[in-house]
Amino acid sequence: MNKYLSNTYLDVSAATITNIVHMDDSIAVYCDDTIFYPQSGGQPCDLGYMTIDGLDHMVDYVEITELGVAHLMKANSMNKEWLGEKCIQNINMGRRIFNAKSHTAGHLISHIFEKMNNNLSPIKGHHHPDSSYIELIESERSNDSFSLELISLEIQKLTKENSRAVQSIELNLSEVQSLRPLLSKFIPQTTKIRMVAIDGFLPVPCGGTHVSNTSELSNLKITRIRRKKDRIKVSYSIN
Ligand SMILES: [Zn+2]
Repeated sequence: MNKYLSNTYLDVSAATITNIVHMDDSIAVYCDDTIFYPQSGGQPCDLGYMTIDGLDHMVDYVEITELGVAHLMKANSMNKEWLGEKCIQNINMGRRIFNAKSHTAGHLISHIFEKMNNNLSPIKGHHHPDSSYIELIESERSNDSFSLELISLEIQKLTKENSRAVQSIELNLSEVQSLRPLLSKFIPQTTKIRMVAIDGFLPVPCGGTHVSNTSELSNLKITRIRRKKDRIKVSYSIN
């Protein structure tokens, strides 16, 4: 398991370069482990740099390919000698924590809606600066409306006087199917599923990075709640 999945707060780590794929004027560097989160699941990738042979090389983008987590960098004449070399990975921690907060906030908001209406399931999350939102889908169509004030009050409670621990757990596919029958159809059908568990709420499958307690989300604000047929879109901001 790559380190970004087990520790949100780790910003420097050593690894070994295991593969390099050359493109026009850039390269994709693969390592035996990484703290860089690859762009996926509605969460932006980490940025930062790798120190190799005493020199710092910017990581411009990180994505998942069939070969693993690809760290994209500008090509240079030294790249061919990097295979098997040690590197020190450094991520921009401000960006990481913002993304982890935004992502965890999406889960917390989903849970609040699910508790208010058990017909709702989270279906989509988009955790980018200035445009964060989640979408929930109704299993049975209703015309329920949701009060922004009431939801905001609940957020205030759950991020301040009644804050909750956030943990990653692993469950078997069969356990996920019984806990989350709708969502379990949309995830990779692997034997072990990584779940995010906010204390007191139903765990949800997720491969993102999260903060360790909802008290870190005290600036969370809901900006808009919109219904479109059987979908509820909730926009929010956090800093
Ligand atoms: Zn998540």
